[in-house]
Amino acid sequence: MTLINNGHSLQVDLAGGYTISNSQFLPKNYKAMQFHFHWGSSFGSEHTVDSTRYFGEMHIVHYDTAHADINAAINKPQGLAVIAFFIKADASSDNAAFQKILQPISAGMNKNAQKTLTPFPISDLLPKITGYYRYSGSLTTPPCYESVVWTIFKDPIQISAAQ
Ligand SMILES: [Zn+2]
Repeated sequence: MTLINNGHSLQVDLAGGYTISNSQFLPKNYKAMQFHFHWGSSFGSEHTVDSTRYFGEMHIVHYDTAHADINAAINKPQGLAVIAFFIKADASSDNAAFQKILQPISAGMNKNAQKTLTPFPISDLLPKITGYYRYSGSLTTPPCYESVVWTIFKDPIQISAAQ
C-alpha cells in the first residue's frame, strides 16, 4: 500500500492482491488498483441519496482482469467497477482504522509525497453493510467514459470531525 497526497485528494495505491472474483456481487472479475477520497468542508460526497449529500465519499477503483491493465479496461463496457462508501464526520471518537492512513498525513506530507504503509485488509475501513445501490455510469472526471459499474453502499463510514 502506497499513501499519496496527489494535491487534490488522499489516495492509496494497491500493489495487486486485492480482487473480487467469481462473485455474484459483480458481473466480472475485478482487481482493485487504488482507493481515494472526496470530501468538502460540509458536504463533499459525489453521490446523493434522495437529495441527501454526505460529508465525504470513499472510492475503491477496480478494473476487469480480462484486460491487460486499467488503461486497456478504462473505456470498455463494464471495464471498471467502483465501490463507493459515504463518509459521515460526526462520530464522538476517532475511527481507529482510519488513523492508519490519516496519521501519516497529519504528521506532514507535501503535495506528491508518498509513504509506504504496512498492508491491512481494506475491510478494516468499511462499515457494517446492509445494502447498496447499483447503476451503470461513467467516470466522474474527464474523459468520463461510460465504463463504470457503480456500487454505492447505504451504510456510511463514520469518522470524527477531527479526523
Ligand atoms: Zn473518486
